[in-house]
Amino acid sequence: MPPYILAVDLGGTQIRAALCHPGGQILRRVARATQAKSGPEAVLERMARTISEAIGEVPSEEIAAIGIGAPGPLNPVTGIIMGAPNLPGWQNVPLRTLISERFGRPTFLGNDANVAALAEFTYGAGRDVRDMIYLTISTGIGSGIIVDGRMLLGANGLAAEAGHIIVKPDGPLCGCGNRGCLEALASGPAIARDVVARIKAGKKSRVVRLVDGDLSKIDARIVNEAAQAGDKLAINAFRRAGEYLGLGITSLLHLFNPRMIVLGGSVTKAGPLLFDPMRETLDARARPIYTEGLAIVQAALGDDVGLLGAAALAVTELGI
Ligand SMILES: [Zn+2]
Repeated sequence: MPPYILAVDLGGTQIRAALCHPGGQILRRVARATQAKSGPEAVLERMARTISEAIGEVPSEEIAAIGIGAPGPLNPVTGIIMGAPNLPGWQNVPLRTLISERFGRPTFLGNDANVAALAEFTYGAGRDVRDMIYLTISTGIGSGIIVDGRMLLGANGLAAEAGHIIVKPDGPLCGCGNRGCLEALASGPAIARDVVARIKAGKKSRVVRLVDGDLSKIDARIVNEAAQAGDKLAINAFRRAGEYLGLGITSLLHLFNPRMIVLGGSVTKAGPLLFDPMRETLDARARPIYTEGLAIVQAALGDDVGLLGAAALAVTELGI
C-alpha cells in the first residue's frame, strides 16, 4: 500500500490540506481562504492548488488515496455535494469525481461532521470503543454516529443529523426550515439569540457592557465570558442550552446505546455551565441502564479534527 494519505478539509472559510501517514500523523499542511463567494469553479481551482502544494514533491503513486471532508448535504456514496448553505452555488457538484480525475488517485468524500466523528473514533477520544456518538456544537450542531465500529450513513448518506432532533415542538425556527430542532436551541447562535431576546425584554446582564451596548455583537463567546464572571442571565442561557442538549442525547442513548458520547465545538468551552445541566437532564430522563457505563468526554483532536477526519475516511474506505 502506498505510504501516504492526502487529507482535505473543505470549509466555508478555509480550505485545508495535509499530507498524512495512515496512522494520523500530519507531515505537511497547507491552508488558504476558501473565498466561497467566488463560486464552485474558483473554489475548486483553489482546492486543487492547495492539494498540489500539500503533495509537494511526493510522487503521485505514493498517495494511497485522497480523503475529503466537506459541508453537506452530500452523498458519500456518489461523491456529490447536493448543496451546502455555506458554499454558495454548489448544487450537485460531483466533487469526488472531479478531484479523483484531476489527481488520478482514489478519492473519498464525507460530510464534515461525520468524518470528524470518524477522526475521534480512529485517532482520538473514541479509540477504545466500538459504539460512539460525536456531537460538535458551534455555529450549528453536527454529529456522527459510529455503530459497532462503522459510521452510520443511511440510505442516501444523510443519517446522523442529531442537530435536527426536535426537542421543542413549538420552538424557534431552525436553519433547516423546521421548528424547535436541537440546533435552534443549543448552538452558539441559538444561545446568543436567547440572551438578546431577554435583554430586549428588559433583563439586566453584564453582556450588554461587554459589547458596548451593541446587541448585534453578542455571540456565544461573549455570553460565555459573562457567564464565567457570574452573570445570571448568561449562566441561565447555557443552562437552558444544556438541558436541551440533554434531551437530544437522551433520545440518542435510547436509539443507539453508545458506550461514549464525544462533545466538541466552540460552545463546549463553557464547560460545566453546559455539561452539568446536560448531565442532570440525562439522569432525570434517560433510563438508568443506558447511562450506566456511559462515558461523556470532550473531543481530543482540537482544530485538526477536520483534516484527521478526511484522513480517517480514506483509511477506513481503503481498509488499511
Ligand atoms: Zn433543523
